[in-house]
Amino acid sequence: MVFENTIDGQQLPAASGAVLDSVDPSTGSVWAQLPRSDAVDVEHAVAAARTAFDEHWRPLPALARAAHLRALADAVTSAADELATLETRDNGRIIAETTTFDLPACAEMLRFFAGAADKIGGDTVEIGPTSFNFTLREPIGVVGLIVPWNAPLSIACAKLGAALAAGNTVVIKPAEQASCSLLRFGALLGEAGLPPGVVNVVAGLGEEAGDALVAHPGVGRISFTGSTDTARIISERAAPTLKPLHFELGGKSPNIVFADADLDAAAVGVSTMSVFTGNAGQTCIAGSRILIQEAVFDEVVERITKLAAGVALGDPLDSATTMGPIVSSEQLDRVRSYLELGPTEGAELVFGGRSGPELFAPNSPLRNGYYVEPTLFRAEHSDLRICQEEIFGPVAVAIPFRDDEDALALANATRYGLAAGVWTRDLGRAHRFVRELRAGAVWVNTYRKVHWAVPFGGMKESGYGRDSGWESVLENTQLKTSWIELGGTS
Ligand code: NAD
Repeated sequence: MVFENTIDGQQLPAASGAVLDSVDPSTGSVWAQLPRSDAVDVEHAVAAARTAFDEHWRPLPALARAAHLRALADAVTSAADELATLETRDNGRIIAETTTFDLPACAEMLRFFAGAADKIGGDTVEIGPTSFNFTLREPIGVVGLIVPWNAPLSIACAKLGAALAAGNTVVIKPAEQASCSLLRFGALLGEAGLPPGVVNVVAGLGEEAGDALVAHPGVGRISFTGSTDTARIISERAAPTLKPLHFELGGKSPNIVFADADLDAAAVGVSTMSVFTGNAGQTCIAGSRILIQEAVFDEVVERITKLAAGVALGDPLDSATTMGPIVSSEQLDRVRSYLELGPTEGAELVFGGRSGPELFAPNSPLRNGYYVEPTLFRAEHSDLRICQEEIFGPVAVAIPFRDDEDALALANATRYGLAAGVWTRDLGRAHRFVRELRAGAVWVNTYRKVHWAVPFGGMKESGYGRDSGWESVLENTQLKTSWIELGGTS
């Protein structure tokens, strides 16, 4: 299949004609081609977005923008099966998740942000009787959205919904490993009646198309989800234009099990709900550091082991599969390097550790796919690299702890601060941990729950700014103050 960019309402190849291959991670075979766009295509897209902002989108009444967002949500719902299948094929996230979670969530997000469009306003500020002071919340202009491979449509829809509701136009740069669902989404925009140029989708490499978007003086804001290292590069490249940045980055999230917890629920919550997931742990909020109180350590590990044994690795398009492949051979190599590193730095392999052909029968096409089985290490110290570095695969480390203080110190001993989980029946402890954990999201007796109405984002090196929720709409506005002199004496 061949996919094209959407720029100014048109389906276009890269101006240079260059293409990139998209690989099906379950088989290792090329299955699609996408444009390898560069600065020329980005220039075209930013110009189209600017014209659409000035001429179509900004002048629209908020309720008309809302109607467009609802029409787009309807178009996504109508094409949900096709989009879910494309995304599963492209990034390996299991079809059970893309159909039941991602695609319905995309449509609901767009509807949520449609509802927000006419709620945006400023304040009046009481200074005294001789002046009238007020604030306006205005759109920024063209917003660049840079999206990773692991959940392209839902991450893009969260960013897109907030940006459009606030009156901005956008250019989306999908990840080169998994662009196809977003490129197909681009083709739906016109069918949904969106004016040309309001949303543009430009595929290509991060260091080419992504870099051109970040550095472009006509782009007023960048909202980026991806790795912390790339965020540092983006910070430098955006510095000359001083554009505001929003970063949703990596994590090494602690998922803490206390002895008083419902251990059955906790075992699920720290394993298949958290890191041994349908997308093989390629989730920024993976609870990849499982902290377990000493008294129940062996019992919980035993339960996790049984749950992991029930994970069905397989073709992500098969609804019986519960874990798909890693997205690319590069990422597979990265995960394997940690499988090798763990024992050399003193971690004990509890289960798993295999990858690639040895996981499948000799005649299976999946032998060439990028699979890793659920893997658990045990470590006594949290300063090992496998306890500190984001692996982005179905690999977790279990670390025993003594008491609350010990758990808190271990949990916060990371440069990241995206998410955390706490499993306990003690309400006081739950509240204390919610306050003391340095993470943007803290789940208690559940894990990895996200919702378009709930702000989502990190602290520390997991980034700043929020996707979803009302805050994400406000972050897509800029504040103006006005002082009108009324005369008279104060
Ligand atoms: P990445 O940073 O390499 O790529 C993400 C996006 O940035 C891609 O579209 C890529 O093309 C683009 N990009 C790369 N280099 C660029 C540059 N120099 N300028 C502009 N754009 C550039 O990340 P990845 O490896 O594709 O994704 C995995 C990472 O993303 C993990 O670290 C994971 O934790 C993180 N992630 C975070 C969240 C979150 O919500 N916090 C969600 C998903 C993934």
